[in-house]
Amino acid sequence: MVTGQPFQWPETVWRQQVDRVRAGRSLRPDRWPDGRQAAVALSFDSDHETIPLRDGEFSPCQLSQGEYGSRVGVPKILDLLSTYGIPATFFVPAVSALLHPADIDAYVRNGHEVALHGWIHERNTALPAGVERDLALRAADTLEQLAGTRPVGLRTPSWDFSADTLAVIRELGLRYDSSLMADDDPYEVVADGEPTGLVEIPVEWIRDDAPFFPRDPTRPSVPPRQVLTTWRDEFDAAYADGGLFQLTMHPHVIGHRSRFVALRQLVEYIAGHNVWFASHADVADWCLRQ
Ligand SMILES: [Zn+2]
Repeated sequence: MVTGQPFQWPETVWRQQVDRVRAGRSLRPDRWPDGRQAAVALSFDSDHETIPLRDGEFSPCQLSQGEYGSRVGVPKILDLLSTYGIPATFFVPAVSALLHPADIDAYVRNGHEVALHGWIHERNTALPAGVERDLALRAADTLEQLAGTRPVGLRTPSWDFSADTLAVIRELGLRYDSSLMADDDPYEVVADGEPTGLVEIPVEWIRDDAPFFPRDPTRPSVPPRQVLTTWRDEFDAAYADGGLFQLTMHPHVIGHRSRFVALRQLVEYIAGHNVWFASHADVADWCLRQ
């Protein structure tokens, strides 16, 4: 428990807080499999109805916006990935998986990874003590039952990493997290100065569809073709670096017709390069082995 105003804190307080979860050594490998120049990890957070549910909103309008993700977004995404033979990672809140078990079957059948994304897209930092752990364990059991294999990675809902999240990740024995932002390329998470062996596949709001296309209609939205330009620039730089291009999308966001044009063009563009398309788990394993 930290007390007092931030400007009053002694150095031990702010240094201890910063050091709790930190970036350690870079895990960008010297080479990628099969002589590929860069790695590409596409991810889809299948939140669907859990965003309004998490906020206690039961309006059929709000819920239908999430329903669109499973009903329209997911089939289009699976079709696009299949056309190019691309494996991806689907981060799925357990409640979303229980609402759409056929989607989980389809992810697995098509060779994609299913990974953790909370129970009902809860805000980790707002939970009473012990609840985050309980929900994470139940979510892991639920995904294991539906997908047939136990998840090995986590993306915290809303990238909300609490003081307990790392301990929960370690208890679950996960191989990677994908919620932090301290690098462009994978790195090892360090806790209180000690390397953890946990791979971080870093995310960024720049490489996320949600901020460009906000749910709130009063907030400005960016034209999809402009977003394509940003993502293409991110990819080009990752390719030049021999690093990782990681992208976070949501079926209920990117699945809309005008936006899907951008994703389709991006995938087509990237597929014309010498890249390794891989799930987040495969990227994490490769980086750790190097
Ligand atoms: Zn989410």
